[in-house]
Amino acid sequence: MLQALQRADDRFNFWRHTNFDERADLMYQLARLLKKQKRALAELITQEMGKTINESVAEIEKCAWVCEYYAEHAGDFLKDRIISTDAQTSFIRHEPMGAVLAVMPWNYPFWQVFRFAAPALMAGNVGLLKHASNVTGCALKIAELIQQAGFEEGCFQTLLIDHDLTAELIKQPKLKAVTVTGSEAAGRKIAAKAGKNLKKTVLELGGSNAFVVLADANLDNIINTAVTARFQNTGQSCIAAKRFIVEASIYDEFLERFKNKVEQLKCGDPMDEATSLGPMARADLAEELADQLQRSVQQGAKILIGGEQSKTRFQATIVTNVTVNTPLMQEETFGPVAPVFKAKDDEHALKVAAATRYGLGVTVCTRDPETILKQLHRFPDGAVFINELVKSDPRLPFGGTGISGYGRELSRPGIKEFINQKTVYVK
Ligand code: NDP
Repeated sequence: MLQALQRADDRFNFWRHTNFDERADLMYQLARLLKKQKRALAELITQEMGKTINESVAEIEKCAWVCEYYAEHAGDFLKDRIISTDAQTSFIRHEPMGAVLAVMPWNYPFWQVFRFAAPALMAGNVGLLKHASNVTGCALKIAELIQQAGFEEGCFQTLLIDHDLTAELIKQPKLKAVTVTGSEAAGRKIAAKAGKNLKKTVLELGGSNAFVVLADANLDNIINTAVTARFQNTGQSCIAAKRFIVEASIYDEFLERFKNKVEQLKCGDPMDEATSLGPMARADLAEELADQLQRSVQQGAKILIGGEQSKTRFQATIVTNVTVNTPLMQEETFGPVAPVFKAKDDEHALKVAAATRYGLGVTVCTRDPETILKQLHRFPDGAVFINELVKSDPRLPFGGTGISGYGRELSRPGIKEFINQKTVYVK
């Protein structure tokens, strides 16, 4: 591990002096490799964590997109920014920080890493990856691909290390910053270690996004969106819709149509292209979800469909009769369970949407976006999506508030997180 850090630091001293065109050439090559090996890489993801093959293919395509996006835009995002002052000249110079550690989760085992790696490398930083222990094949493959694209050894390395060694690594002076995507617990522990050593962190933790359906919503347009928002990736996404909040006047119709669509999800072999709901990634995660469901039922929630769990298999589940205090409405649920809350009116719906300590994003479905746009301040979240599920897009900043973490990934703000924004002043 210390050798890897030394290698990273040595490489950084060269890499930081390359120009954007040189970096972009390699990044475009990386995108080409991803596209060329798409099927094999997708199969690796599906084998390791169980998402459906179609979802894995889409994940690899998105990784190629983020590489191309930063190859194209990094030079513009990080060029000197002249600021007029009383100086003869004054400006901001954007300089890379050095070795950045990424602690990453298994749910999007390629995407979560590329979302960090593409901007980090384009900025002139070097990366060290501590990936989740159930996706080591993906972890090793990513480092291999990056080298295959032509990035020199040391630009990006995968470390197969445990939590203790991760803590050791964070203490090392040559390690400059840490980014974490994962649970709240992991974020708290790693950020505490980084904080003790005065290292910057970006935390992208869990979420409990509300999916609000107001009385004037166009159900024809949003029913499929609602199903995808909760059930894609078998519900194992930080930005999945985890609390459906529906105005009473259309509650019955929404529920009926939502249920019909959810019943059409096809469980099966995730390698089969006809499968739309894969297994969960690990049995312990499925058991945890079953426990959250059981505790909710004990408090009065009713299972409308699904509810059965066996090993990593969890049926697509819809739960009604929930209150704001139901565990499914309070805790992050990382799997295919959708609680549907009946709100008295729009005011009540928006209040319940905000009644969470998480703050990744919210979806509001309405035919009147203008009214929601006037009330954006009511959503403390990092993102508000109207008539669309919350999704990440290289062009838009991504990140949370509250216990969902801090800092931003993607877009212009994402590449600036691990940058020394150096003020230069000439009298
Ligand atoms: P974790 O947060 O435990 O794991 C995510 C990553 O953090 C893994 O690489 C893990 O390593 C690492 N990690 C965890 N604790 C430490 C530590 N103290 N020091 C160093 N590295 C650490 O998630 P789980 O897989 O256990 O999933 C539990 C829950 O977390 C889920 O049910 C979900 O609620 C949430 N989660 C959220 C994600 C998101 O996208 N925001 C993604 C994944 C999970 P290792 O595998 O070696 O333990």
